[in-house]
Amino acid sequence: MNIRSFFPLLSQTIDGKPLVYLDNAATSQKPQVVIDTVNELHTSLNGNIHRGVHRMAEQCTARYEAARESVRGYINAAKAHEVIFTAGTTAGINLVAFAFGERYVKAGDEILVTEMEHHSNIVPWQLLCERKGATLKVLPFAHSGELRMDMLPALISKKTKLIAVAHVSNVLGVVNPVDEISRAAHALGVPVLVDGAQGVPHGPVDVQQMDCDFYAFSGHKIYGPTGIGALYAKEKYLNEMPPYQGGGDMIKSVTFAKTTYADLPYKFEAGTANYIGAIGLGAAIEFFKSLNVNDIQLHEEKLLRCATDRLQSIGGLTIYGNTPRKSGIVSFAFKNIHHLDLAQVLDKQGIAVRSGTLCAEPVMQRYGLTGMVRASFACYNTLDEVHALAEGLERAKSILS
Ligand code: PLP
Repeated sequence: MNIRSFFPLLSQTIDGKPLVYLDNAATSQKPQVVIDTVNELHTSLNGNIHRGVHRMAEQCTARYEAARESVRGYINAAKAHEVIFTAGTTAGINLVAFAFGERYVKAGDEILVTEMEHHSNIVPWQLLCERKGATLKVLPFAHSGELRMDMLPALISKKTKLIAVAHVSNVLGVVNPVDEISRAAHALGVPVLVDGAQGVPHGPVDVQQMDCDFYAFSGHKIYGPTGIGALYAKEKYLNEMPPYQGGGDMIKSVTFAKTTYADLPYKFEAGTANYIGAIGLGAAIEFFKSLNVNDIQLHEEKLLRCATDRLQSIGGLTIYGNTPRKSGIVSFAFKNIHHLDLAQVLDKQGIAVRSGTLCAEPVMQRYGLTGMVRASFACYNTLDEVHALAEGLERAKSILS
């Protein structure tokens, strides 16, 4: 099976050179079936969900709920109503920071994050702490990129209200021991939110096995459309937390004296949902599941190993994140070459990578860097592309140094 043939964008050239797309951690490309699904809805089947009784409204509603079921199955949530459609990971984390914060967090409490979080899993908690007079605590990581699990017990206290941690670091690529963190946190009655933005694209996730209380991810990183994602939350929290936003579809009844809220999951889906995005996300998940996901995981591991071997033999290049459990990401820096210059010279060779602080300034500060270059892999990347990256870097180094 030629996976690349499902992705029309990949066959293009950049300045006459074949596109080598290695910026998948920022966003992935879309298979034809997702493009067709979104087109079909816009051209022949568009009716606002949960409102109309006409045929198109009913069909869109059914397909929206089928997409929720696809997400539920993919992350192995126990119940479909524990899956809330959001605009993406950032939106999901902000929902929890607001609604959980309103219900459970007060002055003097603490929220624990890790030093390797994306800004999306730092700033919403800082805003919450500012609002409530709570304190943000930070679990550090070792030079290798491994979380300092030995420091966790001392950082969880009676004041800790929630722990927020990335499933996979978007810079270091390390897979964090989220099940171990859940066990330690739950032993003290503390819930755990997992930022799954970089976890979900590389294979099915099991939120029940992880036993996390919240899990947020974005559709566009798993071959789906932009502007859609999902938040998993345990029913207990969804029942106890107040709504995040008010509006249509999240209510049971409205009077000027009192409003009552809709049942789950609609209590947290105010306004017209991005139902076309959600149905597109459902198509993306079904597409991904139709590939042999075990084979894809082995393939991506091979790409990562090959990239690590090739890149660490380039003089002056340092790879950040050297742990046994890594997934799909290799980030690096040269001692005397600026990351932006490198990325621009690679772009001229048709190679798309990410450069900069990677939305994780504390990680850059940890290593004393202003930025890194990141290559990240998806199911459609090839070993030839990894070799093209290594050769492109050698060329860039000789031009820039
Ligand atoms: N968390 C991590 C680990 C990420 O890598 C990203 C995006 O790169 C996000 C959160 C934010 O995702 P989005 O911008 O889709 O909301």
